[in-house]
Amino acid sequence: MDEPDVLNRLKDAGLDVLTCMQCGVCSGSCPSGRYTSLNTRRIVRKAQVNTDMLHDKELWMCATCYNCQERCPRGIRIVDAIFTIRTIAVHEGIMLSEHRKVSHLLLKHGHAVPINDETRQKREKLGMEPLPETVHKYPQALKDVQKLLRSCGFDKLVAEK
Ligand code: SF4
Ligand code: SF4
Repeated sequence: MDEPDVLNRLKDAGLDVLTCMQCGVCSGSCPSGRYTSLNTRRIVRKAQVNTDMLHDKELWMCATCYNCQERCPRGIRIVDAIFTIRTIAVHEGIMLSEHRKVSHLLLKHGHAVPINDETRQKREKLGMEPLPETVHKYPQALKDVQKLLRSCGFDKLVAEK
């Protein structure tokens, strides 16, 4: 199967990475990069030269804090580009197994993180209601949530390939 043309897909989404001058301000501003192998400048570079990055684990290490985007001297919408590249990856069937697992939890329980007694107690300690305003509190809504997820093809998107 042909690799998707990431650069053109970014362009179609109104995201121009070609003006990047590789100054590294984005990487220097990245809190995630201080603790992981994420190198924001390198992601932008790979997009510029249209090198495959869809299999890079780093793509998923961005915490979407927007620091880099706010500071980029060229005004490049870096995080929006990362979101777009992630979307392309998922449509190619490429995602971390952890994300796939969480997606399956969402399909099954209508919630990415099913609640348990410990979380209930923690919530109460913080003065919150034991159950959030979600399907946990309104289990009758689960069928509707599942219907919505199926109607937009989410179930197929996160299915094992
Ligand atoms: S801060 Fe902007 S111009 Fe500098 S390397 Fe990052 S994306 Fe490129
Ligand atoms: S938005 Fe992502 S890439 Fe940008 S600084 Fe934050 S964690 Fe790093």
